[in-house]
Formats: sequence, C-alpha cells, structure tokens
Amino acid sequence: MTAATPAEQAPVALEVHNVHKWYGAHRVLDGIDLTVRPGEVTVVIGPSGSGKSTLLRVINHLEKPEIGHVSVGGELIGVRRSGKRLKELSERAILAQRGRIGFVFQNFNLFPHLTVLDNVAAAPVATGRLTRSAAQELARDLLARVGLGDRTGAYPRQLSGGQQQRVAIARALALRPGIILFDEPTSALDPELVGEVLAVIRDLATSGTTLVIVTHEIGFAREVADRIVFVDGGRIVEQGPPADVLDHPRHERTRDFLSKVL
Ligand code: ADP
Ligand code: MG
Repeated sequence: MTAATPAEQAPVALEVHNVHKWYGAHRVLDGIDLTVRPGEVTVVIGPSGSGKSTLLRVINHLEKPEIGHVSVGGELIGVRRSGKRLKELSERAILAQRGRIGFVFQNFNLFPHLTVLDNVAAAPVATGRLTRSAAQELARDLLARVGLGDRTGAYPRQLSGGQQQRVAIARALALRPGIILFDEPTSALDPELVGEVLAVIRDLATSGTTLVIVTHEIGFAREVADRIVFVDGGRIVEQGPPADVLDHPRHERTRDFLSKVL
C-alpha cells in the first residue's frame, strides 16, 4: 500500500461537497461545502426557509442531492460527483450509513405505542447489532445519562416535551453514531423546558461527540459551537468561530439576521 488511505489524511467526520438540491424549479441548496472534523460542534443558523433542514436531510440520506455528494466517516453517500455518476448505493448500504448518523427532530418523532425503554432499544435490535436484553441494558444506561432513568416504563404521551426530546436523544445515541444531527431540537418546546434539553446536548458537546446542530438559540450556539455556519438562500454566507460570526459578522445578511434573533 503506497497511496495515502483516508485514515492517513486528517480525519473527517463529515464532508458535504458542492451539494445542490432543487424541489421542482425551486433551488433550495445552492452549492454547499462543509467539512466537519471528529469531535467538532458545528451550529448552523439562518432564516426560515434558507435550506437548513434540507441540508440535514441530505446528510442523513433522507433526500438525494441533484449534484454533489456527502461522505460520512470517509464513505461516500451521494450519487454524483462533478457531474460524473457514482455507483448507486444499495438500500442496505444506505441503511448501514444512516445507522452511523443520529438524527434528532424538532418534533421528537418517538414511537407512540412503545415504552421509553423500547423506543431507545428498538433500533439496535432491528439492525441486528444487539440482542434484546443487551439493547435494553444499553437503553437503561442512556436513559440514565439523559436524566430519565426513572421513566423507562412510561409511554411518550405521559412525558413532557422536554422529556420526550431527551428520550429522542438517547435513542439517537443507542446506535453509537459517529455524528449526531439536531434539527431545531428545542423549538417545539415550552420555554421552561428548553434548558433541560440544551443541558443534555451540552453534555454531548463537551464529551467529544461530533454534532451538527440547527438552532435559533444563539446564546447556546455561542457557548457550545466550535464553528458557526450562517446559511441564507441555500448557500453558506459565512462561517467561523462564534466570536467572529456572532460578534464581528462580515456580511450584511449575517448582521441583518443576527439583529432579528439576538
Ligand atoms: P429551513 O429549515 O432553513 O427553514 P428548509 O430546508 O425546510 O428550510 O426549506 C428550504 C426551502 O425548501 C423552503 O422554501 C421550503 O418551502 C422548501 N422545501 C422544503 N422541503 C420541501 C419539499 N419536500 N418539497 C418542496 N419544497 C420544499
Ligand atoms: Mg428547518
């Protein structure tokens, strides 16, 4: 082996390369490039409709880009690069890759008919990674970590929104993902429940988990982000450390957005 393998280059947790996405004639992502290193916390901010959720959905393979590609942990996910067609991934390969990415939605998306414990234990069993008893043991540990060790037998409807979102985070962790994506994880919550969810995410951030977080909680972004990415009109307008992007934005559109949310 003489050629450099990906492992010998600087490690990359996630790479988004020249991603374009249209819905009909509507261009929603217009050439997104993003590199996330292992352990890095990236916070994506931007106006409503700017393409933030679509970007996360492309990363998680819930949407296919028309142009560009995504790789997670060095493996390609996209279908085309520079107009040249890449080999289509099998459904099985897509599922395997998605299993390495955790996704936490705005509206929790828990299984209503399953207990909290089974919500967390379900995926490791369904994917054949763990036996049912091992998955339940892991689920108990993860639920304790998000402060819900005493609610394992409850159903989602019996929990507050903040508790449900903490279950959703435990569920994402159960697949031991290389990266976790959060799409406005606190925006469906009553204000008094936001803090408990941010505390769990903060714990992940400080423990070295690779995170990409879409949020309008600018104070939280300042605190946890290694890098802030400001998106507008399907493009990254600027990115950098919080002290640069939040305190000394270079672009008028960033200043305008921040003046509305700060
Ligand atoms: P954000 O998360 O930044 O608010 P989105 O990624 O949800 O933005 O949406 C970006 C744009 O794409 C919006 O104009 C939205 O209406 C449009 N859009 C999102 N999903 C779809 C879809 N499935 N079909 C058509 N248009 C969509
Ligand atoms: Mg969105």
